[in-house]
Amino acid sequence: MIAKKDWKEGILRFFFPPHCAICGAVLPWGEQNKILCEACAAHTPFLSGERCRMCGREIDNDVLCQRCRYADFAFCAGAAVFSYAIMRQAIAWLKFQGYRNDAKAIGVLMAQYLQQQYPDWVEWTDAIAVVPLHPNKRKWRGFNQVSCLCEVLSKETNLPIWDNVLIRQVDTIPQNQLSQKQRRENLRHVFAVSQTYDVTDKHILLVDDIFTTGTTLQECSRTLLRAGAAEVRVFCLAVVSKCEKTQEIPDKKRQNLGDFMKLEK
Ligand SMILES: [Zn+2]
Ligand SMILES: [Zn+2]
Repeated sequence: MIAKKDWKEGILRFFFPPHCAICGAVLPWGEQNKILCEACAAHTPFLSGERCRMCGREIDNDVLCQRCRYADFAFCAGAAVFSYAIMRQAIAWLKFQGYRNDAKAIGVLMAQYLQQQYPDWVEWTDAIAVVPLHPNKRKWRGFNQVSCLCEVLSKETNLPIWDNVLIRQVDTIPQNQLSQKQRRENLRHVFAVSQTYDVTDKHILLVDDIFTTGTTLQECSRTLLRAGAAEVRVFCLAVVSKCEKTQEIPDKKRQNLGDFMKLEK
């Protein structure tokens, strides 16, 4: 007789077959125990060459991209590991409890990239801060996927992680439904610094999954700086290039499969 967990696992695998943790491509039969597809394993598509100093996206012969040139960011530098175009699917998978192994693999890649491309940042950092999810969202999802990435990043780099140093105080309308101006209004005073930590004179590496417009990162940075942090740098898994749009999977769509996901730890 097939155990209950096995058939649930079977259904899970039917809807969400094993896939590459980077590009999200479904892995061919016989290679389903691997974490990366052949192409991504042979050549990890890290961002390389000239990159914008504030968001990390690839640019031609300049220090700042078009967007960052006119943005007055409170953080002093930024970097990203991949382009969002490559990570779109993988970032969607990361929001499911069942894909914790992907978070491990991606966290290791983030650490590798930071150590190889930004070794002075590792020296510079006093603590890693995580961009928080709203408590309701965290409760529903059961975890913050960025925290999962940061736990691995912290382990690999030996940098301390201050997971709950930033607190999200009020509910906000999803940022991707708003204009740039509305985004700023929506986020004003949303974040606070936890009393548990003393950020005074600390160099904080603020981590998020996607750098879109930088509005959330901006508000988090401001909050940390207001609380006394010396400087903030941002480090994201992926950065959106000028013409890409991020897509959230509506929570309702996920709801039906949520229970299956939670079974697999
Ligand atoms: Zn791949
Ligand atoms: Zn930029």
